[in-house]
Amino acid sequence: MSQTLNPQMKEALAARVRYYRELGIYDFYRRDVASALSLEAPNTASEANLASQDSIAPHPVEERDDMARKTVAAPVASDVTLVVSKAEKDVADPVAALRLIREDIGDCKRCKLSEQGRKQIVFGVGDARAELMFVGEAPGADEDQQGEPFVGRAGQLLNNMIKAMGIAREQVYIANVVKCRPPSNRTPERDECDTCSPFLMRQIAVVQPKVIVALGAVAAKNLLAVQSSLGDLRGRWFEYRGCKLAVTYHPAFLLRDPRQKAEAWKDLQMVMKELGWKAPVNSETKGEA
Ligand code: URA
Repeated sequence: MSQTLNPQMKEALAARVRYYRELGIYDFYRRDVASALSLEAPNTASEANLASQDSIAPHPVEERDDMARKTVAAPVASDVTLVVSKAEKDVADPVAALRLIREDIGDCKRCKLSEQGRKQIVFGVGDARAELMFVGEAPGADEDQQGEPFVGRAGQLLNNMIKAMGIAREQVYIANVVKCRPPSNRTPERDECDTCSPFLMRQIAVVQPKVIVALGAVAAKNLLAVQSSLGDLRGRWFEYRGCKLAVTYHPAFLLRDPRQKAEAWKDLQMVMKELGWKAPVNSETKGEA
């Protein structure tokens, strides 16, 4: 269905395209617009300091008969979606390409978070060739202090989740939708996510993981732009720019509601199956780290 843009919409669109160009992103394609967004999001960033550090309590690997295993193409938030960024396009080495993206971010002042007490930009960490990438919401206090995603309590639980999958943190890539800590760990706002998420998209395009795991509703909402509850998004595969994407609970939410860890473990088992990974023997018992 063709749609005529009014002058304000045209100007807004032109401004966004200019913004992407300034980021070195030039190629766009059109896709259907997803219906309005309203995920019931657990406020994950603010939950990072709530509960005691914990392990995921893994269950034995089992088939997820309850899960729809169909892959669903992800709708997008806007009908204009960036696909290629210029700066790192011709750089074969993903480490160097990620460095270029980090350089592009610079001492970012593109959104108001730069004036709201962030100490530093928290870019991303891990293997630039990782098969598996985790995407969180935004840095918390510990991450802001150390300049690395998921190093606080939620990070300790994420580490245990990764370990339960039979791999080390260094073997995955971890990043957030928003690279600066929101004040008081509030949920990042729409404009902050919109401003920052192109960098995440570029990181994903460089790393090209086989599987992305969106941790919590903010990550899921920004990557998939769907109008669904987290419960509806879990247990399904989405197609995301050549990667498969699964959604699970944010570790900070699991710290607050540890009963959901068994569910999160089911999500990770689905991911492991997709990647052809087997859980180590000791992760098949309930382990409290
Ligand atoms: N929560 C997130 O979403 N990301 C982090 O890096 C830390 C806590």
